[in-house]
Amino acid sequence: MRRRVCVLGAGVIGLSSAVFIQDLIPDVDVTVVADTCTPFTLSDDCAGLWMPYLVDLTDKDVMRWSSDTFDYLKSLGHSEEAGDAGIQFVSGYYFVRESAYTGQEPPWKDLVVGFRKLTPEELQISPKARDGYFLTTVIMDVKRYLPWLTKRILDRRGRIQNRKIQNLDELTEEYDVVVNCSGMGANQLCNDSLLRPLRGQVIKVSAPWVKHFYINPDPTDEHKEVYILPGPYDVTLGGTGQLNDWNIDMDEKDKQRILKDVCKLVPSLRTARQLRDWVGLRPLRSPVRLEAQKLPGKKTVIHNYGHSGSGVTFHWGCAKDTAHLVQLTLETHQLTSRM
Ligand SMILES: Cc1cc2nc3c(=O)[nH]c(=O)nc-3n(C[C@H](O)[C@H](O)[C@H](O)COP(=O)(O)OP(=O)(O)OC[C@H]3O[C@@H](n4cnc5c(N)ncnc54)[C@H](O)[C@@H]3O)c2cc1C
Repeated sequence: MRRRVCVLGAGVIGLSSAVFIQDLIPDVDVTVVADTCTPFTLSDDCAGLWMPYLVDLTDKDVMRWSSDTFDYLKSLGHSEEAGDAGIQFVSGYYFVRESAYTGQEPPWKDLVVGFRKLTPEELQISPKARDGYFLTTVIMDVKRYLPWLTKRILDRRGRIQNRKIQNLDELTEEYDVVVNCSGMGANQLCNDSLLRPLRGQVIKVSAPWVKHFYINPDPTDEHKEVYILPGPYDVTLGGTGQLNDWNIDMDEKDKQRILKDVCKLVPSLRTARQLRDWVGLRPLRSPVRLEAQKLPGKKTVIHNYGHSGSGVTFHWGCAKDTAHLVQLTLETHQLTSRM
């Protein structure tokens, strides 16, 4: 009999995990269960840039997941699928403020393409920069990427079920293995106090003349992130990083501060047409929870949540680890049921 795997969550983490499980273990039935699907998940509206952000860069797993994901996105970007999957390359500036300056280059510098230090002239672009780099990375249109993943799941006879879960037991009773990719939803489902919201507010504008990204993070001030991220259809202007703030309404003060700061970097943004405001809650957890939890009885839940500001940046590496944990769990079940 074919074994049944349930993936809870249809954001970038859940859908990529489902695809990887189908690739690695073709003889299982995969069902994705979610109360929100594309185009309405948190993942759909995020900027989609590959860049380890708001995560612990000394964590070896973080670097491995980032590296696996970048390699995968790079080859997808060079393939004929790039357009359908919404993948494109983007180059730009990463500034380092005085408050973040350590004298060391970022540990991800060898993962990206064409990493180099900024010239003194380029450094003038950001008035507060102490140092900075120019590099090429990948940005995805997540609203295109998630349907592309969904199609892959359905093409291999996977299922998507739209329903809300109150308790993980509802799924463990029905399936051989449950994979928990519920993002911020894990806060209630797992009662996990390490998982906290990190509020991010952005403005989406139309500014087709802006082709480079500009990132100017400030780890010392939760209201002072500045970034300009051009996607294929709009440019994301940000942002904020407010810890333990559950407010998903737009805040006018945050908005005016963002507009002021981005215009200091790129003055022509003053004339950009504003499309919409957006607020999302990053599922912050240090470390990311990616592990198997054995429940009383024979059932196992594989957790894969808490990717903070780097869900897109980590997703394929995390999907790979998750799929291998599912495979191991099914093999162990098979052995113990024979005994
Ligand atoms: C302003 C902002 C900008 C960002 N930009 C970037 C970026 O450029 N690059 C990057 O790497 N990351 C970025 N991020 C972070 C990124 O958005 C997240 O890390 C990522 O979306 C997390 O994906 P996820 O699949 O875990 O969560 P989600 O996309 O939230 O998906 C969770 C899924 O679980 C389901 N679910 C939860 N609970 C239940 C339940 N009880 N019953 C049924 N279903 C349930 C939901 O319906 C949903 O389908 C940004 C975040 C913000 C806020």
